[in-house]
Amino acid sequence: MKRSSVALMIAAVCGLAGCTKSSPSVNVDVLISGPKIYTGLQLKPSALDIAICGELICGVSPQGSVAYVAKRIIDASELVVSPGFIDAHTHSLQELLSEDKNANLNYLMQGVTTVVNGNDGSGAVDIAKLKAQLLRNGIGTNTALLVGHGSIRTQVIGLAERLATDDELVSMQQLTEQAMQDGAIGLSSGLYYVPGIYANTAEVVALAKVAAKYDGIYDTHLRDESTFNIGFTQAVDEAIEIATQADIHLHLAHIKALGVDVWGQSTSVIDRVERAQQRGVSISADQYPWQASGTHIRSAVVPKWVMADSISAFHHRLNDPKLRGGIRSDIIENIRRRGGAKALLVTMAQDQSLQGKTLQDIADERGQQPADTVIDLVQGSKIRVASFNMSASDIENFMVKPWVVTSSDGTNGHPRKYASFPKKYRQYVTEQKLLTQAQFIRQSSTKTAQVLGLDKRGKLAVGYYADIVMFAPQHYRDNASFNQWNVLSSGMEYVMVNGALAIDKGQYTKRLSGQVVD
Ligand SMILES: [Zn+2]
Repeated sequence: MKRSSVALMIAAVCGLAGCTKSSPSVNVDVLISGPKIYTGLQLKPSALDIAICGELICGVSPQGSVAYVAKRIIDASELVVSPGFIDAHTHSLQELLSEDKNANLNYLMQGVTTVVNGNDGSGAVDIAKLKAQLLRNGIGTNTALLVGHGSIRTQVIGLAERLATDDELVSMQQLTEQAMQDGAIGLSSGLYYVPGIYANTAEVVALAKVAAKYDGIYDTHLRDESTFNIGFTQAVDEAIEIATQADIHLHLAHIKALGVDVWGQSTSVIDRVERAQQRGVSISADQYPWQASGTHIRSAVVPKWVMADSISAFHHRLNDPKLRGGIRSDIIENIRRRGGAKALLVTMAQDQSLQGKTLQDIADERGQQPADTVIDLVQGSKIRVASFNMSASDIENFMVKPWVVTSSDGTNGHPRKYASFPKKYRQYVTEQKLLTQAQFIRQSSTKTAQVLGLDKRGKLAVGYYADIVMFAPQHYRDNASFNQWNVLSSGMEYVMVNGALAIDKGQYTKRLSGQVVD
């Protein structure tokens, strides 16, 4: 630390004096030198030298203007250099806590140096414990943690379909308070899921107010992205209302118009968000660049009331002849909303014979109606589906908004977990030219750090953590697909996490230099 602050001082003085190569040399650990470096301070790239001392950036200067002596010099003359990418929405805790996948290699290979965990209301309640576990285990990327409204509710109320009592609300606020003190970056909710869906707006406001006291954010999987309950635009209104009442930054998770009934509603949602922004509400969103979402078949099409209380109650209701007709017609309607049984593709199942088949294929094989197949399948082990339910034009409308950042929402069974960032780059920067390279980088790093409130991340500036990626744009590409969802992406030459190279010349170095960030 001491050495790096000395180097930092010399570099700064040298910079002010406009020093030349004859000036005293500056000792640093790593020097990255290249003609095309995005710092995040301005939109355009510049020819720069970036010096790294320990885990921090200790010098940023025009190429060749400071005489650095570095233990390692990276020549980035053929590469684009940018702040490490930040994924605003992942489900990667299981990997980070594992013995063999804690490198988070599927993210590193996309250029992601920080992942957010705890989204959709399901984030851990005991943040201090989780943080300690992660650091003890060692992690390849940084992670930021959200505390989950759904997890807090489960701890206090269970999965009962009812409102919270006053006492329960106080308990939930206390848990939120503790989590924020322990380093959560905010509160997440999943108001579409059980048990978040059982909460009213006031309950979420009460918890969001606590997160706001600590400058946290409110990150929400909306109550409805379709016409399942209150409707997409109403759900956006509810989220804005929560943020307004709690005076908190609102982050809309994986923004999308889900299903044929709401296609085209991106326009009115954007309008609502931007009108609220003009009123002074701080709002951002993230988005993954795929037309299919991914979830369990149960969450996709079974009505939420059937899942209340417990698994045995769930099975009991499914097999209750008095309820079966109603459940069946709700499932039929939910399949229709999602584009029909052909638009639901099984991507992961214990029964291998189901994989790669659509719900329609499976129903046909069994000589059943798709709704009956669903009722059979959801009583077995969990089955993941890709649900092809988005329109290309809604995706594009959202993507070009400066307040929409890149995410993966990565889950097993969906290529988004391995390929979201390079797919967005290939499809929307290189092929469709919807975004410029600079916009892509900004919406994958600098802007993301800003909206999530991550301290000293997302920019290449003196005193910031050295999370840096370097890639050859022509080689940066997605390799995963719906047929093979877990293939690593390629083209990242160097990925630095807190000053240590996790990817060096395209190869994983086994360095676990990730931190829990806030
Ligand atoms: Zn979600």
